[in-house]
Amino acid sequence: MKKQINEVCGFCGRPANVTGPLMPSLIEGVGICDDCLRQINKTKAENRDQHNHLDKDEKIELKTPKQICDFLDQYVIGQSRAKKILSVAVYNHYKRINYYATHDKKDNVEIEKSNIILIGETGTGKTLLARTIANLLNVPFCIADATTLTQAGYVGEDVENILTRLLQNADFDVDKAQRGIVFIDEIDKIARKGDNPSITRDVSGEGVQQSLLKILEGTMVNVPPEGGRKHPEQKFIQVDTKNILFIAAGAFDGIERNIASRMNSNAIGFSESMQRDKIDSDSFLQYAQPQDLKRFGLIPELIGRLPVLATLDKLDKAALKKILIEPKNAIVKQYQKLFEMDGQKLTFEDDALDLFVDTAMHYALGARGLRSILETVMTELMFTSPESKQKEIVITKDYAKEILERNKKSFKQ
Ligand code: ADP
Repeated sequence: MKKQINEVCGFCGRPANVTGPLMPSLIEGVGICDDCLRQINKTKAENRDQHNHLDKDEKIELKTPKQICDFLDQYVIGQSRAKKILSVAVYNHYKRINYYATHDKKDNVEIEKSNIILIGETGTGKTLLARTIANLLNVPFCIADATTLTQAGYVGEDVENILTRLLQNADFDVDKAQRGIVFIDEIDKIARKGDNPSITRDVSGEGVQQSLLKILEGTMVNVPPEGGRKHPEQKFIQVDTKNILFIAAGAFDGIERNIASRMNSNAIGFSESMQRDKIDSDSFLQYAQPQDLKRFGLIPELIGRLPVLATLDKLDKAALKKILIEPKNAIVKQYQKLFEMDGQKLTFEDDALDLFVDTAMHYALGARGLRSILETVMTELMFTSPESKQKEIVITKDYAKEILERNKKSFKQ
């Protein structure tokens, strides 16, 4: 026989004629209403989510430097020096996070975070390297442009807004965002003009550098979830940046002169240890050191917060050609896949590929230009091919040349 239960919900106290029929609870004679039951289930589900989430995200699946480097090799051509340095830095970064997730900092030698600075001409793979690492580790990634940033109180983007994009890319999962990677591009464009701050004071560049210091090092930041300027009624999400890996990058045009002059003056002083003829004068960049960045106009505090420095090589013709065909998602492979979906086999003659490379070199477009060059050549074919019965399509040099001549403007930057 069913036990009689009270006429009011034992949890919210509302009478059954308001809540609707009550259900029995474990306490004899005490009923529970639909609303209270729903609320309990909701809270239970939220707790479960949060718990799973912590278990899942507490640790990043660590890859060894060799594994990271091997993965990069699948997507990025050349740049072996930068790959090695990056792989080690990224490994150390996530090893450190995983370690401190389960160990007390006070008992140990505290390992500081090692943000990274990449130096290399535009289109040599700086962004690609950073993005590929984030993909491998499955951590959120975002790109910020240093030139849009401003020091607090000035017109432009607040530095905190960098993290808005990261949060968005982490689906507003703060834990995840706090282990993400932020790529700050064009860091060289916020350099102070000239080495001596008292002679040529460039407030804006230096101010932005100053405002970056805290977030690079690790601090609690109030991030506006929608971005934009701060205003008093805005709600913020608190993000701790201490485990976010920052990778700054820039071309640092002209820094080679600083490096060369430093090395030459050193070579005169220490001619025995430093033989000038051994220095690869074509690519002084690889010898870049923090003091060259200072001379270029980065403030020492910022350089100090970007302790891992890696330089990228210029891409020569051979590298550009490899970029066309070798990476896992090489441009040529992508077009072949698109045609394959229509049941067509697409091939490129070798000298057509050379023509693409020469054109990119000619217009100094680098790897970035290869895509627009190919897009120009392929557009007409992609327009007509779905209706053609052709099963095999071969791109010859003559065909490519004719189209490129006709469309010179469209692929020039
Ligand atoms: P950067 O950040 O150095 O200006 P990116 O990484 O954005 O250059 O490169 C632009 C595009 O050029 C990439 O998306 C990629 O398609 C191609 N690319 C550049 N460098 C390489 C490289 N070393 N290996 C493979 N592709 C590259």
